[in-house]
Amino acid sequence: MAFESLSERLGKAFKNITGKGKLSEKNMNDMLREVRMSLLEADVNYGVVKDFIARVKEKALGTEVMTSLNPGQMVVKIVHDEIVALLGNEEAPINYKKTGITTVMMVGLQGTGKTTAAAKIANVMKKKQSRKPLLVACDVIRPAAIEQLKTLGESIDVEVFSLGVETKALETAQKAMDYAKEQGYDTVVFDTAGRLHIDEELMQELSDIKAFVHPDDILLTVDAMTGQDIVNVASSFHEQLSVTGLVLTKLDGDSRGGGILSVRSITQVPVKFVGLGEKIEDLDVFHPDRMADRILGMGDILSLVEKAQEKMDMEASTKSANRMMSGQFTLSDMLIQYEQIEKMGSLGGMMKLLPGMGQMANQIDEAKADNKLKKSKAIIQSMTPEERENPNILRAGRKNRIAKGSGTTVADVNRCISEYEKMKTVMKQMMSMSKNGKMPNMGA
Ligand code: GDP
Repeated sequence: MAFESLSERLGKAFKNITGKGKLSEKNMNDMLREVRMSLLEADVNYGVVKDFIARVKEKALGTEVMTSLNPGQMVVKIVHDEIVALLGNEEAPINYKKTGITTVMMVGLQGTGKTTAAAKIANVMKKKQSRKPLLVACDVIRPAAIEQLKTLGESIDVEVFSLGVETKALETAQKAMDYAKEQGYDTVVFDTAGRLHIDEELMQELSDIKAFVHPDDILLTVDAMTGQDIVNVASSFHEQLSVTGLVLTKLDGDSRGGGILSVRSITQVPVKFVGLGEKIEDLDVFHPDRMADRILGMGDILSLVEKAQEKMDMEASTKSANRMMSGQFTLSDMLIQYEQIEKMGSLGGMMKLLPGMGQMANQIDEAKADNKLKKSKAIIQSMTPEERENPNILRAGRKNRIAKGSGTTVADVNRCISEYEKMKTVMKQMMSMSKNGKMPNMGA
């Protein structure tokens, strides 16, 4: 994940000042020097770092901070707020028209993830924003690009308009608008051609489409892995096309993250979405404050909560939780828990979003853990309802049958049962701690 080493370094810089009752100017200056070095090392633009540190310093040396009860925490908060400011403070939604067809033009260099982002965004529009989007294949240079968009469109059940490689991009755009009107689409997303480098011909083609479509949004995809170069690419596109939003892609890679921190403050173009993987659902609306939390290693609890709410079968898990709280934890409940974990993505992926767990997540062998989870699920699914309620009846004969049914071994079945016993014991302990007042009541 981007920002990992930056988070780590910032964490170290803060360690020396948090918890200190009093803060000397020297402590503060040492910390600021560390923050400055961390940002430069993460490849943040020099000018951006200089201004950033100056702003933090001005606020941090204010008397209010120096004399506050916990000056260290106050300083961390100032750094946090300034990072949010760097990232743009507010969320920037799509500029939907009140009436008529909203048009969004995707632009960007080849390979940055433009076509993928077009489909991901159309999917968000359809599923979360109740829009009726049409995707348009205006990248007529590469036949593969049209095919790619069609495949993506099919997977999200969004129609893709294309006239093939024989028709010019501008003409495709014009005909697509006619088609959208006829068919009652309220949103049109244009995937345009990219090149490996910015060139005049490309810019002319994009300008022509822009002049005809008058897009409500021109979204530029920039690849987080390209480092500081993001800023140059974004500036060039912005100069020629007046971009209205950025889509930062490949944030799941291990880029140092500096370009991402610089790009908004230099171009003044807001980041609207972030790409977090190759799959369609790996796209988030960009929240500057949550990104700042992630950069500062505070995890992204809000994103995790949202993810959980979206994907969890709330009814099943509430019922199961209630049963657990009353001390009844059966193998059926364990199955429900496993299914929830699976719906939320991999264990490692979830842990990366939790504060302080990022490091640990890296140590988990994700494939192994996921494989174990799948096996346990298959084993429980091969049991009869009676066996799930009362595993004590499981003798050799039944275990053999279950192993066969689930394509596992008796040893796997035994492991699954012993896992269940362990979980049950932990549940019981938690329940009695909660009853004795040693823990907040989780059943409330
Ligand atoms: P385009 O040439 O700009 O249209 O780029 P594509 O949409 O074809 O994407 C190029 C490659 O990057 C493909 O292999 C995508 O699967 C991949 N890709 C796109 N977005 C992301 C992302 O957010 N994370 C990762 N890891 N890969 C991505």
